[in-house]
Amino acid sequence: MTATVIDGKAFAATVREKVGAHVTRLKEEHGITPGLAVVLVGEDPASEVYVRNKGKQTLEVGMNSFEHKLDADVSKEELYALIAKLNADPAVHGILCQFPVPAHLSEQDIVAQIDPAKDVDGLHVLNAGLLASGQRALVSCTPLGCLMLLRDHLGSLSGLNAVVIGRSNLVGKPLAQLLLGDSCTVTIAHSRTKDLQGVVSQADIVVAAVGRPEMVPGDWIKKGATVIDVGINRIERDGKKKLVGDVDYASCAQVAGAITPVPGGVGPMTIACLLANTITACCRANGLQEPDGLTA
Ligand code: NDP
Repeated sequence: MTATVIDGKAFAATVREKVGAHVTRLKEEHGITPGLAVVLVGEDPASEVYVRNKGKQTLEVGMNSFEHKLDADVSKEELYALIAKLNADPAVHGILCQFPVPAHLSEQDIVAQIDPAKDVDGLHVLNAGLLASGQRALVSCTPLGCLMLLRDHLGSLSGLNAVVIGRSNLVGKPLAQLLLGDSCTVTIAHSRTKDLQGVVSQADIVVAAVGRPEMVPGDWIKKGATVIDVGINRIERDGKKKLVGDVDYASCAQVAGAITPVPGGVGPMTIACLLANTITACCRANGLQEPDGLTA
């Protein structure tokens, strides 16, 4: 069997198109331009690239992009004052702080400063709690992107056995909640899981969100299963730098029914879902109908 490749890059483009069309409608019919504010602390080169890409794609769909760059030694009081200003600004519908931040700042405390209604990264405890209790939340972007890819590929997920490897607050836990919301039977695996191979081999859906290059081999995968690879690992092979996921793509693609590649799978969905969340937050803030297919 050779797996169908789930093209996250192409699907992300359709999400951005949908977002762009809704932005146009919001502008024309309601005079509202959705706005996303991104706060970057320090000069981490990878974070600078992410922030630049986010800003570029925000502008491309017709939203306003507000970038705030702060020095690495900014005090938490100054940072929190900026977040308070953004919370109060009606032109800003989504706020995210790019992580990691310098060690004197706490990511958890920063997220707690953000108005949950503008928390487009879905990391605030209120949004995590709403998601866990099956209520309307803003959902973390990468898990939301995985869910969209799965729904697009499989249609109904009801009754399927799903294994999520990884239990981070950013990916594993919210994704498990989303899959449960779609009536999967969900197992969350992690570094202490016994017999990971046995657990994974039962799954109709395998999501790997670990951060260990190619740790899931093809002989763990049930024939025909759908494999979603969230991992982004930079490795060097044959003297060349390469990006690989958490699953061994070559062997898994021989067994799986469908698989996301790295790069070009889950990665592009993350920023697309950030834009989707900003539209959702904007519609909710203005009491307007949300576009279909952009939320959980
Ligand atoms: P974290 O480091 O926060 O979590 C990793 C999880 O993997 C932990 O729950 C850990 O378990 C588990 N784990 C570690 N080793 C093993 C093992 N041997 N067997 C089973 N489970 C294990 O990572 P994130 O969730 O933030 O990210 C995971 C991956 O996804 C990374 O490669 C990251 O780069 C990528 N990523 C990609 C994004 C995208 O846009 N595509 C966005 C976000 C992340 P325990 O809790 O027991 O320690």
